[in-house]
Amino acid sequence: MENRTLRVFKTTTYREKPNSDELAFGRTFTDHMFVMDYSESEGWHDAKIVPYEPLKVDPAAMVFHYGQSVFEGLKAYLSPKGEPLLFRPRKNIARLNQSNERLCIPPIDEGFLLHALKQLIHIEKDWIPSSEGTSLYVRPVIISTEPFLGVAPSKQYKLVVILSPVGAYYKEGINPIKIAVENEYVRAVRGGTGEAKTGGNYAASLKAQEIAAKDGYSQVLWLDGIEKKYIEEVGSMNVFFKIGDEVVTPQLNGSILNGVTRSSVIEMLEHWGVMVNERKLTIEELYYEYQNGNVQEAFGSGTAAVISPIGQLDWNEHQMVFNGGKTGTLAKKLYDTLTGIQYGQIDDPFNWVE
Ligand code: PMP
Repeated sequence: MENRTLRVFKTTTYREKPNSDELAFGRTFTDHMFVMDYSESEGWHDAKIVPYEPLKVDPAAMVFHYGQSVFEGLKAYLSPKGEPLLFRPRKNIARLNQSNERLCIPPIDEGFLLHALKQLIHIEKDWIPSSEGTSLYVRPVIISTEPFLGVAPSKQYKLVVILSPVGAYYKEGINPIKIAVENEYVRAVRGGTGEAKTGGNYAASLKAQEIAAKDGYSQVLWLDGIEKKYIEEVGSMNVFFKIGDEVVTPQLNGSILNGVTRSSVIEMLEHWGVMVNERKLTIEELYYEYQNGNVQEAFGSGTAAVISPIGQLDWNEHQMVFNGGKTGTLAKKLYDTLTGIQYGQIDDPFNWVE
């Protein structure tokens, strides 16, 4: 039996809030967190908002050994009226359940989690920074907590939602990045967990990212894990290319994360009458189109940066420079429109914010 009561226990020792201009990503946390437990007999139960504090977890908890865990990432923005706005939170919560399904974690009640998220954000409203480009990052995570060393789905879980005020991704305006195509390491394979937001995918991505960073690149472009020729994602963003009259993005195939920003970019472009083609795209084809002068823009999409223009893409000895290494018109228009909607500054024709 699931118990959907949400209890609130307020802290008595409030933390000092950081200066809005000095915020980094993911290092400061708010006064409260949301927690909920799962057991076989009670289902998801004991939902509560409590003071932020370390968790007490058994060292034999299965998450430490076999990585059965999932997470999400979304942001709350402060509207011009000073109200918190969430951008498409239902999509993140639905994706959390898709990740749960892949990782054999029992599903959560999506409506209840949304209610709990909104309640937590309401309590922490004063933590939402107000300087331009800043926001409150929302991080739900589920870990398997059963103390057992057998390899099997855990029978106990803990869901935690923590909040972190984050600074502007672009401090001096939207800026193009330099990317390297990754030829050796892969992020995910067909039939694997690429489409799930699970820690293991990110652990597997560190090596390539570390090498790329040493060589002066900000991210890697991942190719498919089998033939290493199809374009999948850039770092932790989905990727788009403006080729001729259409915008091409790799089609979802089970190993690509189904980004909320990706969906929003596709819907927005279609709304503007721009042709979007979700299809397989090889790195050879991209290079061929580039050499023929047909690739006008490239950009990544994700919650952190919203839109990240790609100025340069290096593939072995080949170098592709898009739009003269500058932010393209389409990337800029998408960035301005999406962030305008997120901050409640412009009309939201899709009812994306709530
Ligand atoms: N791909 C990966 C691997 C990611 O981690 C993310 C960030 N969640 C994305 C794409 C972009 O997804 P979203 O637009 O939902 O942030």
